[in-house]
Amino acid sequence: MNQRMFQKILIANRGEIACRVIATARRMGIATVAVYSDADAGAAHVAMADEAVRIGPAPVADSYLKGQAIIDAARQTGAEAVHPGYGFLSENPAFVDLVTAAGLTFIGPPADAIRAMGLKDAAKAAMERAGVPVVPGYHGADQSPDLLAAEAARIGYPVLIKARAGGGGKGMRLVERPEDFTDALASARREAQSAFGDPACLIEKYVTSPRHIEIQVFADGHGNVVHLFERDCSLQRRHQKVIEEAPAPGMTEAVRTAMGRAAVEAARAIGYRGAGTVEFIADGSGPLRENGFWFMEMNTRLQVEHPVSEAITGVDFVEWQLRVAAGEPLPLRQQDLRIDGWAFEARLYAEDVPRGFLPATGTLDHLSFPPAASFARADLRVDSGVRPGDRISPWYDPMIAKIITHGPDRATALRRLSEALAATLVAGTTTNLAFLSALSRQPDFVAGRVDTGLIARHLAALTTPVAPPAEIEALAAVVALGLLAKPASSDPWDRIGAFRGWAAPEDFVTLVRDGAARDHKVLHLAHGAFQVTSPDGVVTLSADPLDGAVRLTTDGHVTTVRLLADGPTLTLGRDGQSWSFTRPDPLERAEGTQAGEGAVVAPMPGLVTAVHVSPGATVRQGDPLMVLEAMKMEHRLTAPRDGTVAELGVAVGDQVSDGALLARIEGADD
Ligand code: ADP
Repeated sequence: MNQRMFQKILIANRGEIACRVIATARRMGIATVAVYSDADAGAAHVAMADEAVRIGPAPVADSYLKGQAIIDAARQTGAEAVHPGYGFLSENPAFVDLVTAAGLTFIGPPADAIRAMGLKDAAKAAMERAGVPVVPGYHGADQSPDLLAAEAARIGYPVLIKARAGGGGKGMRLVERPEDFTDALASARREAQSAFGDPACLIEKYVTSPRHIEIQVFADGHGNVVHLFERDCSLQRRHQKVIEEAPAPGMTEAVRTAMGRAAVEAARAIGYRGAGTVEFIADGSGPLRENGFWFMEMNTRLQVEHPVSEAITGVDFVEWQLRVAAGEPLPLRQQDLRIDGWAFEARLYAEDVPRGFLPATGTLDHLSFPPAASFARADLRVDSGVRPGDRISPWYDPMIAKIITHGPDRATALRRLSEALAATLVAGTTTNLAFLSALSRQPDFVAGRVDTGLIARHLAALTTPVAPPAEIEALAAVVALGLLAKPASSDPWDRIGAFRGWAAPEDFVTLVRDGAARDHKVLHLAHGAFQVTSPDGVVTLSADPLDGAVRLTTDGHVTTVRLLADGPTLTLGRDGQSWSFTRPDPLERAEGTQAGEGAVVAPMPGLVTAVHVSPGATVRQGDPLMVLEAMKMEHRLTAPRDGTVAELGVAVGDQVSDGALLARIEGADD
């Protein structure tokens, strides 16, 4: 009775998830077709697939969101089914209809199941009918502000206003006091209207000390629905997940059973098929309770964080997706599923943490991880869709990799995560690596005391760049001068400079760190031993080169410092921190755009989505000028001073690069 497995599938996505799907398809002997935009012609997923089809220019609206182009590509290559990955068209019921109408199989749920969960109010109503606990609140059709205010009072403050069409935390407002309700509602409605074209909102009780706990479900076309336990995704920044784990700390068998049952009910209620996630919010103010969790939403696709559940269950979720889509029954029943150990996932992004986590771009001059499996279960698994030399472009999600660890218990898995982050090295773009590293050692997290406010409460401690210890800066001076002995393997050292057996007893070097030039004097004491005088003091050290690293000894303390030389930039890493130093090139004068006072420059690469002024307009300091959107964030740029708009270099729809001059405000005195 088994249907025939697909022989060829198309993956309607890019980056790590496209590579992830290809890996399993290949293992199952299924041929793969990638699609790509002009910006991705040389991307990893294109290189990895058996075939690839260009679908359009770089903007997602012209490529990865163009359903018809993707279906044409499937037809043209003879693919029988389409895997949507996550994001893009994965939760678009119209696309599912289009795929099905073309005689192809959508590797995901039926269009109606996606529709049922598409709007938060309808989804909550459906879940209430199915007996799934939902957050107490109001999700009715009457949207008059007076009624909503009365409902908020009935629910009891604090309340959360949510756009019913919401996603990515947009159109969401926490209101603590009744007197703030009217303004908060108006602003949530405005944001919802502009982001989703739908101003309708629901009101929810705000759960204090909330934990985000989600249940992985799987359903087949034969009436079987199982859950594959929970993931805790409470470590969030602005509602975006940062580190996920499975199982959830403090979970009991009774609560797990209750949540699993509710999730299975939710899936059954909407005729679900394939992989899905039911997200719950749980009261984290005390131990987890059977009556202390509520349905939030269902994601009708594979989640970014699915590998932590694969790690603890041993199931390959993409394989199950393919089997279910091909008509096979689920390979395992609920009673066959077991939790094995603990797993974590950290999302490594190209983003500038000290500058408010702005997405960053750049070429990955270097990218290395400790030995790991890719797209397969292991103590250390690294899923990535980029390779050294690839560009992180402003067009798409700036994810570099997902770093996933597994161990017999939470402490072991978390230690493995911390060690893996410490041994990861990226050059060429700013990343959140140091932030992830600090988070992996944060005492509350280590103790399993998590809630969605943890990161915000400790943000300063987690994001303050740590100045390099004196011995690291001293070592940088030694390395920059090429004074290290040559190790067995010549790799980065060739670029640093050869060993100078005749080294002068004294050398000088200037290194720039965080924009400040600092002079160092290096005294060569003996083979591999130096005394370095820096602005902050004197360090005596000895350095034994290894492959890509140095054994550094100071004051009888030996540590390993990872080392990377890239042009004039030297990056030294230890304990999950890394520091970059540059040797100033005397020929290259700082000729950076002297934009001057009154200039408005792009704080990051992004898309101009609104322009509120025209040339010659009079503005007051703080007036909104334009909105720049980069991935899931909107940045309002305001006038830096009173004056007139003397220059306006952009229009709606322009893609701008980091540092680009967008506008100039001329003051009366200019
Ligand atoms: P979106 O679809 O915009 O991502 P969600 O409804 O999934 O919005 O909620 C996103 C996050 O907001 C959750 O992960 C949780 O951290 C927080 N949140 C949502 N609802 C509540 C609530 N009722 N009380 C407290 N926090 C909530």
